[in-house]
Amino acid sequence: MICKQKNCIEVWQLDGIPIKVTRRPAKRLRLWVVPPQGEVRLTLPHHTPVKMAQDWLQQHLPWLRAQQAKHTVVRSADTLHLFGEAWQIVWCEGRKSTRWDEAARCLFLTLPAQADEAQRAALLAQAQKEQLHAVLVEMLPPWQVRLGVAVNEWRIRSMRTRWGSCNPRAKRIWLSLALSAHPLPCVEYVLVHELLHLLEPSHNARFKGLLDEYLPDWRARQAKLHGKL
Ligand SMILES: [Zn+2]
Repeated sequence: MICKQKNCIEVWQLDGIPIKVTRRPAKRLRLWVVPPQGEVRLTLPHHTPVKMAQDWLQQHLPWLRAQQAKHTVVRSADTLHLFGEAWQIVWCEGRKSTRWDEAARCLFLTLPAQADEAQRAALLAQAQKEQLHAVLVEMLPPWQVRLGVAVNEWRIRSMRTRWGSCNPRAKRIWLSLALSAHPLPCVEYVLVHELLHLLEPSHNARFKGLLDEYLPDWRARQAKLHGKL
């Protein structure tokens, strides 16, 4: 049986467990379990006799069952909102890692079994921060050019009461991590708002005039951000 997975030559069955077998120019047999579904993979050195490999697998069956139990999804009820779209969070057990599966709209977060809630929250926040950071890195330079401003420093922070803040004297802007949940036009509105404070620190008529000039639909973006649209 030929499997579509790259490099995979066949699928074996061991006591009801499908095993994806790949032959490679390796020195030893390697057997491992991939989270989150607990898929089993085996790498065989070329020329290993099938009978020998199957006997070897049979001996490793108890180990394999234990590994499968360990690396399979433990819970997956959480939803993450990222730039206005819902992603399913799939928690797995294993070595710490983050993987975005675009096609499945799933975020796979893996931590050792003993990880506590604080460590889970930190890994999720880190994943959100990386996404928001990537967006801002793209958005910021063209807006700085358009507005004729330049920040000395910008950061993403967990902010409870505001979407962003600006210190015009230090030319420093901070943006809320919570922005990552909202559609990109809302993120852009907050970024432009904070950058414009470098030209006008207060929310006066001049400030609003600048917003009207550079981002004519800013009121709609602001209303959407505040859940009024
Ligand atoms: Zn402001």
